[in-house]
Amino acid sequence: GKFMTEKYDYLIVGAGLYGSIFAHEAHKRGKRCLVIDKRYHLAGNIYTEKVNEINVHKYGAHIFHTSNEEVWNYIQQFTKFNHYVNSPLAFYRGRIYNLPFNMNTFYQLWGTVTPEEAQAKIRDQNKDRYYENPKNLEEQAINLVGEDIYVKLIKGYTEKQWGRDATKIPAFIITRLPLRFTYNNNYFRDPYQGIPIGGYTPIVEKLLDGIEVRLNSDFYTGYKNWKEYAHKLVFTGMIDEFYNHRYGFLEYRGLHFENEELEIENYQGNAVVNYTEREIPYTRIIEHKHFEFGNQPTTIITREYPKDWKYGEEAYYPINDEANNNKFNQYRELAEMDRDILFGGRLGNYKYYDMDKVIKAVLDDVKKEFKE
Ligand code: FAD
Repeated sequence: GKFMTEKYDYLIVGAGLYGSIFAHEAHKRGKRCLVIDKRYHLAGNIYTEKVNEINVHKYGAHIFHTSNEEVWNYIQQFTKFNHYVNSPLAFYRGRIYNLPFNMNTFYQLWGTVTPEEAQAKIRDQNKDRYYENPKNLEEQAINLVGEDIYVKLIKGYTEKQWGRDATKIPAFIITRLPLRFTYNNNYFRDPYQGIPIGGYTPIVEKLLDGIEVRLNSDFYTGYKNWKEYAHKLVFTGMIDEFYNHRYGFLEYRGLHFENEELEIENYQGNAVVNYTEREIPYTRIIEHKHFEFGNQPTTIITREYPKDWKYGEEAYYPINDEANNNKFNQYRELAEMDRDILFGGRLGNYKYYDMDKVIKAVLDDVKKEFKE
């Protein structure tokens, strides 16, 4: 074995949001923790990196929003939030539309001014094309919002995200597409939202203050015999990989980001613009400075391209269809028998988790772990 005089209480694999909150809470309770991450940096997918004084969201736009007061109070111990409100725009064939679908969008599409006019227009939209039993996403979307909104704002974007035609995407993916009959571009309904001033990385630095962290450290190359290091393991990597894919691979959608530094002050006038035409290969352009109302002399933009995922690449979105969920449940049953291992976070639970849901989950797990 390794030369070791004293073991840690916890080996925590992953310095993302889940792993770092777990480590913080365990450390606070007097437990000895070792955190490892295979990446060169802390913070997992919420990592922000300062480039030309702009905090760049390296793994895609991250907007904090929650309805959970416990979560909101918790995270504010580690940062101050600004008053950013997510109001993405859609670009389609040279024109700009507000999102989510609201009175501004309807005005831009049809020139309707009152809610009554807009409602009449929408009723009119799908009177000639309505599907009693929608068989795919296209038919379902047309039933819900009609032809114009579907074609201009949904079809291309969704097809790019899924990598196939809307007629080949199951209808259940969209059960509703909320239409808002007020002039309100605030994407989220949650009472609390904002961007941490200074980015997300400082939150994780504070969480891990005083805790031993080893970056560039892969579990599988140096720590597989984790019992030599710690009494318990907290694992936030992929659960199927941990168990050698014995029930097969869980599937994901991948993403590819292209960053560009521009010698201009303002490229698109908004943090997030969705590109809803299928012919344009990226789904959105992020202009990072606008998350923090920056007035730096230059700007940084990121184009986001969805793509198929292959093992070995960064896994972004779980594909929670029946086959994958069944597989995941088999892994979870295995995991439940491993009493000294706790699987957490988006990869450990094979779940798309917003940040607030991760915080809620880890705080619940902490209460269970320390029997509080
Ligand atoms: P991660 O951040 O992935 O952390 C897991 C860590 O484990 C990683 O650092 C990884 O390197 C490490 N690891 C894995 N395997 C190993 C190994 N074998 N050895 C060592 N280390 C390992 N949420 C919101 O609330 N608002 C948003 O606007 C939002 N936007 C998003 C946009 C995109 C494009 C994506 C992909 C996600 C978005 N999210 C958003 C979700 C948010 O990113 C997650 O909630 C959060 O990052 C999950 O934290 P985690 O700790 O579970 O996982």
